[in-house]
Amino acid sequence: MKIEEVKSTVRIQRIAAHSHVKGLGLDENGVPIHTAAGLVGQEGAREAAGIVVDLIKSKKMAGRALLLAGPPGTGKTAIALAVAHELGNKVPFCPMVGSEVFSSEIKKTEVLMENFRRAIGLRIRESKEVYEGEVYELTPVEASNISTSGEKIISNVIIGLRTSKGSKQLKLDPSIYDSLQKEKVEVGDVIYIEAGSGTVKRQGRSDVYATEFDLETDDYVPLPKGLVHKKKDVVQDVTLHDLDVSNARPQGGRDVISMMGQLMKPKKTEITDKLRVEINRVVNKYIDQGIAELVPGVLFIDEVHMLDLETFTYLHKSLESPIAPIVIFATNRGRCTIRGTDIVAPHGIPLDLLDRLLIIRTLPYNIRDLGQILMLRAQTESLKISEKAFNLLSDIGAKSTLRYAVQLLTPAYQMCKVNGKAEITEEDITDVHQLFLDAKRSSKFLSDNKAKYML
Ligand code: ATP
Repeated sequence: MKIEEVKSTVRIQRIAAHSHVKGLGLDENGVPIHTAAGLVGQEGAREAAGIVVDLIKSKKMAGRALLLAGPPGTGKTAIALAVAHELGNKVPFCPMVGSEVFSSEIKKTEVLMENFRRAIGLRIRESKEVYEGEVYELTPVEASNISTSGEKIISNVIIGLRTSKGSKQLKLDPSIYDSLQKEKVEVGDVIYIEAGSGTVKRQGRSDVYATEFDLETDDYVPLPKGLVHKKKDVVQDVTLHDLDVSNARPQGGRDVISMMGQLMKPKKTEITDKLRVEINRVVNKYIDQGIAELVPGVLFIDEVHMLDLETFTYLHKSLESPIAPIVIFATNRGRCTIRGTDIVAPHGIPLDLLDRLLIIRTLPYNIRDLGQILMLRAQTESLKISEKAFNLLSDIGAKSTLRYAVQLLTPAYQMCKVNGKAEITEEDITDVHQLFLDAKRSSKFLSDNKAKYML
C-alpha cells in the first residue's frame, strides 16, 4: 500500500466519525431545532454558524475566518462539517490538525497549501454524446491462457447494441466484465454508453466503466457518429489537489479532460509550484469558457494553537487569495504563547489574525444531549444497545468525555459479538470501560504509580 493512500484513509476516518452530520439543523428563521440534521443541542453555536453560512453565501466573509472555541468533544468538528454541508452538495471538507504542519519531510507552508487545495473544489460540466440501445449480444471472450489458480481469464466482452439508428457490436475492456456482472446487465436490457469516456450505464443503475473498442478495427475508436443518440450533461467534482496529484508527472495533456483522465493512473513526481501555476492557468481558462466552476469548500484546522508564527503569517496572506476556501479554526485553549515566540495571546493566535476572526463558543453537553448523540452514533453504525447499557454509557460520557464514550461503542459491540449476543449489554460496557482508559483515568493512574514510570 502506498503511503499517500494511508494518509487519505486517515482523512476519511476523521470524517467518518461525523457521518451522521448532514447540516446545521436550523428552521427557516435560522433558529436551531434541538435535534435535526444529525446535530443535537449546542444551539448557540449552531445559530451563529448559520449566520456565518449566510455571510459566506452573500460573499461577505472574504479575507475572514471562523474560530470555534470550546472544550474537547463539544462538537467543533461536527459543526464545521455541518457548515460545509450547508454550503451545498459536494462542497469539499478538509479537516487537519495544527501539528500536521510539522513534518520532517515537507515544508510547513507546503502542508498548508496542499490542504488549501484539498478544500477547493472544481465542478466540471461536459456535454457528452451518448448512445442508447438494447443489448442483443453479451459474450465474454476467454483468453487462451489460464491463471495460476486455474481460473479462466476473460480477455474482453462483446456487446451487441441495437439502437434506434442501427446496430453495432462493441468489444469492451475485460476490466468491465465484473462490473457488467455486478450491474446484472443481460440481453434485452437497455443500456447507454457515453462516447469518449466509455462509460456504460444500465438504465436506472449506477455507472459501469468501460473502454471502447470497435470490433471491426479492433482498436480504440470514438463511437460512430451515426449511432449517437442524444447529448447528455455530465458533471464531475474534483478538488484542485486531485488535479495536482493526477498531473504530477513529467508528461501528459494539460487540458481539464486529460487531467481528469489521469486521476486513476499511478504516478509519482513531485507537485511543484510551477505545476500548480500551470493547473491554475488551465482551470481559469475552463472557468472563463463556462465549462468549469470553482466550489470553495471548508478547511478545518483543529488545535490551531499548535501553529507557529510563520504558518500564521502564511495563512493570513492566503485568506486574501481570490480562491481561498472558508477556513474554520478550532481550539480548546484560552490564553497561551504563540508558538515560536514568547508572546502570550488569546488562543495562541497573533492579534492581527485574531482581528479577522469571528469567534463562536461551544459549551459542554448536558447528560440528555450527550445520550442523544450517543444514540445517533449507535444508529449510524447500526449497533443495537440495551437501555441499561445506554444509560451506563451516557453516564461514563458525562464523567469523562463524549469522544471517549463514542469510542467505546465499537469495542463494546465487538465484545458482545464474541459473547454471541446481538445487543450490547451493561456488562459489555463495563468490560470495555475497564479495558480502555479515558485520558483522565489514564493520567491519574500514571501519577498514582509515578515510581514505576520514567516520568
Ligand atoms: P471537538 O472538535 O470539539 O473535539 P468533535 O466534533 O470532534 O468535537 P468528538 O469529540 O469527536 O466531537 O465527538 C464525538 C462524536 O460526537 C462525533 O461523532 C461527533 O460527530 C459527535 N458530536 C459531537 N457534537 C455533536 C452534536 N452537537 N450533535 C451531534 N453529534 C455530535
